[in-house]
Amino acid sequence: MINLKRFEFWFIVGSQDLYGEETLKQVADHARVMAEELDKDRAIPGKVLLKPIGKSPGGIRKLFEEANAAPNCAGIITWMHTFSPSKMWIGGLSINKKPLLHLHTQFNRDIPWASIDMDFMNLNQSAHGDREHGHIYARMRLPRKVVAGFWQDGEVRRRIGVWMRAAAARADGVTSVVLRLGDNMREVAVTEGDKVEAQIKFGWQVNTWGIGDLAGKFNEVTDAEVEKTVKEYEAAYELAPELRNPGKARAAVAGQAKIEIALRRMLEAEHAGAFTTNFQDLHGLPQLPGLACQRLMEQGYGFGGEGDWKQSMLVRAAKVMAAGLPGGVSFMEDYTYHFEPGREAALGAHMLEVCPSIASGKPRIEVHPLGIGGKADPARMVFDAAPGPSVLATVVDLGSRFRMILNEIDTIKIEQAAPKEAADMPKLPVARALWKPRPNMRDAAESWIIAGGAHHSAYSNALSAEYFQDWAEMAGIECVLINGDTKAARLREELRWGDAYWSGRG
Ligand code: MN
Repeated sequence: MINLKRFEFWFIVGSQDLYGEETLKQVADHARVMAEELDKDRAIPGKVLLKPIGKSPGGIRKLFEEANAAPNCAGIITWMHTFSPSKMWIGGLSINKKPLLHLHTQFNRDIPWASIDMDFMNLNQSAHGDREHGHIYARMRLPRKVVAGFWQDGEVRRRIGVWMRAAAARADGVTSVVLRLGDNMREVAVTEGDKVEAQIKFGWQVNTWGIGDLAGKFNEVTDAEVEKTVKEYEAAYELAPELRNPGKARAAVAGQAKIEIALRRMLEAEHAGAFTTNFQDLHGLPQLPGLACQRLMEQGYGFGGEGDWKQSMLVRAAKVMAAGLPGGVSFMEDYTYHFEPGREAALGAHMLEVCPSIASGKPRIEVHPLGIGGKADPARMVFDAAPGPSVLATVVDLGSRFRMILNEIDTIKIEQAAPKEAADMPKLPVARALWKPRPNMRDAAESWIIAGGAHHSAYSNALSAEYFQDWAEMAGIECVLINGDTKAARLREELRWGDAYWSGRG
């Protein structure tokens, strides 16, 4: 569903006419070799397109005009092979609408010690050309990522790849819709927010449809269509024994298949990449969409529970960023803590809606009562999240601006905190993740709460914080990172300084 190769990244190499034709030919040759090699590397998810050398104000402005008008252009990479006076770039940069990456590298890895002379120095000038270029970005206060290092180095390419994935998510958001089924949960603050400002900042069109529209589509789904989807479930997941034969429980699974089909039809018709549901608003549906939401997330859609459109949008952005990477992305909620000294951990889950892309092993479909919402027993997938480093990301609306909060965490096996005989938590038949937040439970929880972070988040074991930081930079929003270096008391001061920076900028 998500193909990152359709996103183009324009590679604009800077120089100037002063150098003469011979030098400019060498600049163009080096640029071509670099563009071709970067494009071939599997660490580079998008398509790298080499553009003409930027060497005059008019030519540079024209390149940015063309980039703005190119729907497939998701970002621009600049690199100054030689010295390219930056006043020449102001016209282009001032109209630019695409994410920017300033690649600070040079064509040769090593100094040719025995042969180096002043001619070589004049032809290999990134170390000073890129400083002139970086200055104009700083002077114009442009959002950008700077990646420094040798262009063949794996870490340099990985970081370019991270930025490209974030830029692809941004491009996806600009043409996407969050389909809200009903409103937010009554009385809840953190799932609210300014939908107009969200579209201005992120591109997402956040719009509402009545649950009756889904109920109408639900009633149109045929039994044959439902049976086909249930067969897909049987092939992909384990089914609890009572679901294998006709009966009430299997009918509940079929009910979720029917919701999945109806909801996907609605999402496709509205060109929506993400959606929300609200258990307070289910009139006309037999069950809370559980398995249906899990399946649609697995197919790449963003999801938010209780009308949480900000996290739904973020889950979709993370799905785009993680396309093709090992691991997955899910909507998540902080539920319950384990405070046993030395084994502190947080248990994340939702009523039902956690994406199986983060599962360890094969998910199992089960049907159980749900003590909330007053509907029939819903089918859901049950599994534990795979252990390993992961990240939580949330976006909140502070009234004057959006703030993203990130927490690096380590997901653990449940038996690392629970006694072996109870580690399968038999009375909690939902998908769940158990993690140790960095730097530790106290500082992580205090920092998240001081920053106003939501109980809902996007969870990923495919992405690191860097992806979300790049995405936040492109959107021009504040981004607060909680990781192994964080001290809650220090963070509180940083947030106060940030208030001064962000006031009037939000
Ligand atoms: Mn929730």
